[in-house]
Amino acid sequence: MTELKYACLKCGTCCSLRFSNADYIKRIPIYPEEVDRLIEIAKRRQIPLKVKEDLVFPDILNKKMLVLTYRFIANENNHCVFYDPKIGCTIHEIKPFACQAYPLTLKQIDAFNLEITIDSTCNWVEEHHNELKNIDINKIKIIFREGFKNAEAFLRKNKKLQLHLRRMEAENKIKIARQISLEDFNKYLKEWEREEITTN
Ligand code: SF4
Ligand code: SF4
Repeated sequence: MTELKYACLKCGTCCSLRFSNADYIKRIPIYPEEVDRLIEIAKRRQIPLKVKEDLVFPDILNKKMLVLTYRFIANENNHCVFYDPKIGCTIHEIKPFACQAYPLTLKQIDAFNLEITIDSTCNWVEEHHNELKNIDINKIKIIFREGFKNAEAFLRKNKKLQLHLRRMEAENKIKIARQISLEDFNKYLKEWEREEITTN
């Protein structure tokens, strides 16, 4: 039996951020330092890049919203602005951690831990659904060789960010509100200043 190996179909589905006539929005996490880099590239190429805050936490000590990640806003064709239907991703060498790891992604398993998993919305994954069902991490590592290394880098980046936040909390530099009402959250979102959390 031939060993299964991931081979991207170059269908572009993963760079489609919104299905037309649907509320579905794809959230590709982009770190603030990645956004800065992407803005530079977009400026040089005169591409209208738009991003939106995604993962944010209220810091009730400093009355600030801490911004951990952003996400791309889709262009008029519902795609990422860096996607070209003829050639695919136009920033392949420097695309965000999440895109480099794809179709591997991170799944939250509890408050502090994430694990590498396979995104079922990838068309190649869908085609091989039965072979990929219930496979363990060692098999994932073999099937998605290059992507696995990138997913590990993505995981490390996330862990570093979480550790950084916990350290700031332990040093009483911030206090993250973990149980607040939606009403308060929306109020803070509207009124408080932003602070980006970065780890290099
Ligand atoms: S950065 Fe590249 S891979 Fe990521 S969504 Fe945009 S076009 Fe697709
Ligand atoms: S959806 Fe999957 S197969 Fe299609 S381009 Fe994206 S990674 Fe490749």
